[in-house]
Amino acid sequence: MTSNTNTLEREKGILIVLSGPSGVGKGTVCTSLRKSSPELIYSVSATTRTPRQGEVDGVNYFFKSHEQFKSMIENDDMLEWAEYVGNFYGTPRQFVEETLRSGKDVILEIEVQGALKVKQKFPEGVFIFLLPPSLNELENRIVSRGTETDESIRSRMSVAVEEMRLMEHYDYAIVNDHVETAGNKIKSILEAEHCKRERVFPKLMHWIGEVK
Ligand code: 5GP
Repeated sequence: MTSNTNTLEREKGILIVLSGPSGVGKGTVCTSLRKSSPELIYSVSATTRTPRQGEVDGVNYFFKSHEQFKSMIENDDMLEWAEYVGNFYGTPRQFVEETLRSGKDVILEIEVQGALKVKQKFPEGVFIFLLPPSLNELENRIVSRGTETDESIRSRMSVAVEEMRLMEHYDYAIVNDHVETAGNKIKSILEAEHCKRERVFPKLMHWIGEVK
């Protein structure tokens, strides 16, 4: 037996897709996770939306013009992309693929149309839907953010209802009534996913094949 066949080698990383309506707190949960689980890698999306106050290019998003975004799509640089309330959002492909190959887990924080596209390419990904405690609470959160116009609030609320209808395509649903609790649930899911027999078993085959 050689030393590298009797060790359970690090597998390819797990792709976690976190979706849920705008205002549900995906960003806040991700920020909390980034602090408590620095080993989890966050994919920074590209968008044509205007930066909000305090948002930093390359940290919150890669802010792109429509032309730049279009050429990223044409060059097949996007893992997925979607139009959401009048703006385009997409996940740069190379970063995600390279990070997963290096064995690290990657989290995408994206809306539902994009998540469903990712599911076609990565059916082995872990799809988590974050829910608000109620629709009223969701509206309160969007309004109190103070960043959206009345029209954008109305659009975001009606998209939210459509998005919740698509929850059946997800593996897990978490109600975000407390940020840290929601983050801890995501960590527990990830830990359990790493222990799934189908992820661990292929490695054991090396051992079984070596023992005569
Ligand atoms: P916001 O304008 O509030 O930052 O984001 C609007 C919506 O776009 C949110 O639901 C957010 O999760 C989603 N979003 C952010 N990045 C991406 C992305 O790369 N792809 C897709 N499909 N949606 C994204």
